[in-house]
Amino acid sequence: SPQIVWLRRDLRMADNPALYHAASQGPVVAVYVLDDEAAGSHAYGGASRWWLHHSLESLLKSFGSRNARIILRRGDAVEELAKVAKEVGADTVHANRHYEPWWRKAQGKLAEQLDLQLYDGNYLLPPGAVTTGSGDPYKIYTPFSKAVLEQFPPRDALPEPETLSSPGRWPESDDLAEWNLLPTKPDWATGIADFWEVGESAAHERLDWWAEEVGDYDDGRNLPSSDITSRLSPHLHWGEISPVQIWHRLKDKRSQGWKTFEKELIWRDYAQSVICQFPAYPTESYRDYDERTLWRNPNAGHLIEEDLKAWQHGQTGYPIVDAGMRQLWQTGWMHNRVRMIAASFLVKHLLIDWRHGEQWFWDCLVDADYGNNGVNWQWISGTGVDSNMFSRIMAPLSQSEKFDAAGYIREYVPELADLSDDEIHDPPDEKRGDYPVKIIGHREARERALEAYRKAKG
Ligand code: FAD
Repeated sequence: SPQIVWLRRDLRMADNPALYHAASQGPVVAVYVLDDEAAGSHAYGGASRWWLHHSLESLLKSFGSRNARIILRRGDAVEELAKVAKEVGADTVHANRHYEPWWRKAQGKLAEQLDLQLYDGNYLLPPGAVTTGSGDPYKIYTPFSKAVLEQFPPRDALPEPETLSSPGRWPESDDLAEWNLLPTKPDWATGIADFWEVGESAAHERLDWWAEEVGDYDDGRNLPSSDITSRLSPHLHWGEISPVQIWHRLKDKRSQGWKTFEKELIWRDYAQSVICQFPAYPTESYRDYDERTLWRNPNAGHLIEEDLKAWQHGQTGYPIVDAGMRQLWQTGWMHNRVRMIAASFLVKHLLIDWRHGEQWFWDCLVDADYGNNGVNWQWISGTGVDSNMFSRIMAPLSQSEKFDAAGYIREYVPELADLSDDEIHDPPDEKRGDYPVKIIGHREARERALEAYRKAKG
């Protein structure tokens, strides 16, 4: 009988365990359900919707070229899957495990109604595969990563299914264009469209390129002016490629660059393991600070809103922060070093609750990921499970110099393009032209943050 495949963030043909196993058991009816309700504050943001549209479009073509289809439905995932199952006479739904709380809930409900076969497909090791001596999951990255490395190699990658046979009759499907996932007017996504190729084959082309570059990763990954990170993050997030495919493709590169890169892939597994343990992590501080004194009081009026806006729009007067925030807006992505600097600036220099930053990134990033975004925001804000204390404050001006960000600033803050390498990190006021003066001085901000932290700690 027909086998349903429930697609979510696993928009690929190859190394897709749910699709592979379903195809070996009968005709395949793949279903994608767009549910704008279940995820609440984490319904897809603008940049995610843009990516999703193009990724689905690309996968629809791949299915089409094999005389297969993806049924698009909108609404409650469990209800829609149950309807499709009834329409085609299927009892079994195959899906790769997802760990976002709304999807775990849906998996639970679906399993009460249909035979739900779950597979591990999106991480190097399934969350829960490594535990401490006492059998608990790890909370901290370093021991987690050591334990993961001891378990390697990860599973083998699966090929594409050899054939996808069709059910006797196809159920109704929405038309992707009618989902309106793309912006209409103004089209804010033109910069994003110039920056990215979306879909499974684009992900593999990117990996081919990266296989040649990964040797330089160790030295280059902190330099925002150079293109020495993989930029695989949206492809990984949407599951156009799996980390297992990446691992096997690069494993023979015996460079330090590969070793460092492997650890970054493990960060992704780690973030997932954190949200498995603490599902509300992207919305609730883990540490027990008195947050009423830690953050500037939002009821104190417009100042905070203006500061938040200045940060969002890249108008803080700190060139490295503004370059990052404008890169985010224009391309849907930001270099990791700059994500750290910009996030730290919001939380510590401006003392604005990290959740405002998490939500802005959620809306603007094409790789916006419930686990990675939440875990990194709490890591930066010092409110998370690790011991990175609130009192560690990044200095944006010296970071900008140290990591040689002049070229990056010229690209994204063109009004400063004529300044010399010496001046561009911290332009003298008389050379700023239309570019804003600093929203707050570094030393003053630092002292204010330390004081707030002391109070909040009690
Ligand atoms: P590479 O340096 O090439 O790394 C390879 C892959 O490893 C990445 O694609 C990513 O999947 C994973 N990875 C790398 N660094 C991290 C990390 N610190 N945590 C978890 N996984 C990592 N990454 C996201 O994928 N989605 C997010 O929503 C996200 N939000 C972030 C928010 C903040 C405040 C910070 C500081 C970091 C965030 N990151 C997020 C992590 C990191 O910045 C991006 O994964 C990275 O910049 C993506 O570019 P890349 O693919 O070239 O990375």
